[in-house]
Amino acid sequence: MKIIETEGIVLKTMDFKEKDCILTFLTRDVGKKSGVLHGGKSVRSGNAAKAELFVINHFEFSEKQDADLVRIRKCELLESYPPIRRNYSKFLHANYFTELLLQCEIPAVESQDYFDLLKQAISQLSNSKTGIEIKFNFELQLLKLFGIQPNLESCVQCNSDLWQKKSGRSLAPKFSVPYQLDAGLGGIRCPNCCIRNSSSAYLHPGSLAFFRGRQTSLQSDSAIRPTQNNLKELDQALYVYFRHFFGRDLKSHSLLKENSWKS
Ligand SMILES: [Zn+2]
Repeated sequence: MKIIETEGIVLKTMDFKEKDCILTFLTRDVGKKSGVLHGGKSVRSGNAAKAELFVINHFEFSEKQDADLVRIRKCELLESYPPIRRNYSKFLHANYFTELLLQCEIPAVESQDYFDLLKQAISQLSNSKTGIEIKFNFELQLLKLFGIQPNLESCVQCNSDLWQKKSGRSLAPKFSVPYQLDAGLGGIRCPNCCIRNSSSAYLHPGSLAFFRGRQTSLQSDSAIRPTQNNLKELDQALYVYFRHFFGRDLKSHSLLKENSWKS
C-alpha cells in the first residue's frame, strides 16, 4: 500500500451512502483518482465544501493495487472559486473543461501539465466576465497535450498552401471564401476541397487566421483579436474535432452552446 500526498481538483462528485460521496479528482502528480470522502454530504462534518465541483483540495490517500477507489485519509480545502458555482455560464464552462478531462486517459507523468492547465482555466474563469475566449485557449492547449493539433498550414486534401504573404511578415489566408476544419484528416480543407461531411465544419478566413495566430503563439495576447463570429465558428469546429477524437457527444457542450450563443 502506497500513501500519496498531492493537490487535486474535483472533477465529479457522486452521492454515496447517507452522508458520504465519491469524488473523482485530477491530481497534480498521479493522474485521476476516485475515493470516498466521508461526510462529503454533511455540512456539519465540515467536508461538504471539499466535495464541491472544481474546488482544489490537498489530499492524502492510500492506494491498493487494482482497487478502483483510493482511501482518502486527509482532505483539506485549498481553493474554492465560489464565483464559478454562483454564475451559470461560468459553471457550464467549467463543466465542459472537466468533461473533456474525464473522457481521456491522463498518464501520471503528464499529470502536472493537465492539472496546471485546468487550474489556470478555472481560476481565470472565476475572475473574468466571460468564458468564451478562456474556453478556446483551453481547447488549444488540450489539443497540444493530446498531440492532435490540426495542421493549419496546407490543405489536408490537395496539399496546396493556405497562406500568402501580406505586407511585412504577416500571413493572410489565400482565399476569401470559407475553409473547413476536417477532424478525420486532422487539418484544414481549402475552399476547393470542401465537402459535406459530419466531421468537417466551416471556418471563414478571419476565423482561420485567428485560429492559426493563437495556435502558433498559444498566448492570449497574440495580435489578432477575435470577433464573436470567429469564436462561435471555432466553438463548433473544435467541438466537431473533439467529438471525432473521443467518438462520442459531450453532454456539457450542448448546454454550454445553448447558453453561450442565444440570440
Ligand atoms: Zn485543397
